[in-house]
Amino acid sequence: QQQALLEAEALGAIGAVASAVAHGIRNPLSSIRSSAELAAVEDVEGARQCLADIQREADRMEGWVRDLLLQARGEAVAPAAVDVNAVLEESARTFQSAAARQGVALRLATASVPPARGEAGALGQALDNLLANAIEAMPEGGALDLSTGVAPDGRQVEIVVADTGGGLPKGLRDGQPFFSTKARGTGLGLMLTRRILARHDGALLLESRGGIGTRAVIRLPVTGG
Ligand code: ADP
Ligand code: MG
Repeated sequence: QQQALLEAEALGAIGAVASAVAHGIRNPLSSIRSSAELAAVEDVEGARQCLADIQREADRMEGWVRDLLLQARGEAVAPAAVDVNAVLEESARTFQSAAARQGVALRLATASVPPARGEAGALGQALDNLLANAIEAMPEGGALDLSTGVAPDGRQVEIVVADTGGGLPKGLRDGQPFFSTKARGTGLGLMLTRRILARHDGALLLESRGGIGTRAVIRLPVTGG
């Protein structure tokens, strides 16, 4: 009976995720479909507008896929020594063109830090989510400062993602799935990022000062620490 209850609960959770995903993907997909149809009969200027719409909707779908990939990283971490500078540089590369498109100046300042204990792929996905949130917070442009360093206690490495966007919303409930202030956000990114970091015995700190910009700080234990 206990088993049946657990199974029903698991099925319910899968159902909730499946319907959220279906909604998240169906809307952008159908606007891509109609923009493509429209582009075929528009003049050059109109067609260009359609292409811009298609690009924007494709970006939204990419956000969904990114957050779902985080979810797929449910397995236990096989710890290895991770070069956090390399992971951060890789994430920065991934978001370079999105930042440029939006007038966001991307600055990278890595320090010489000891390797962290963890799994590079999962950490990269956690970082991708923070970079996506930072860029999404600056639709009118701004600055994205990425840096690494050693935490004050000396036993953890830090990765800092700082933006100059509008700051965290009041009453942010980022532990709660599907909490989003974006028209078509998933509300999964921060929750899943926190889960990845928890599995690494690390942490995520978020702070906004006076509603100006946001600093997201990842802390990870160093190898052997
Ligand atoms: P999503 O990005 O799909 O909305 P997330 O879980 O990644 O979901 O983020 C949840 C919410 O946290 C966002 O909708 C936004 O309100 C807030 N948030 C996260 N990062 C930032 C940031 N850098 N600046 C401002 N708000 C943020
Ligand atoms: Mg997000």
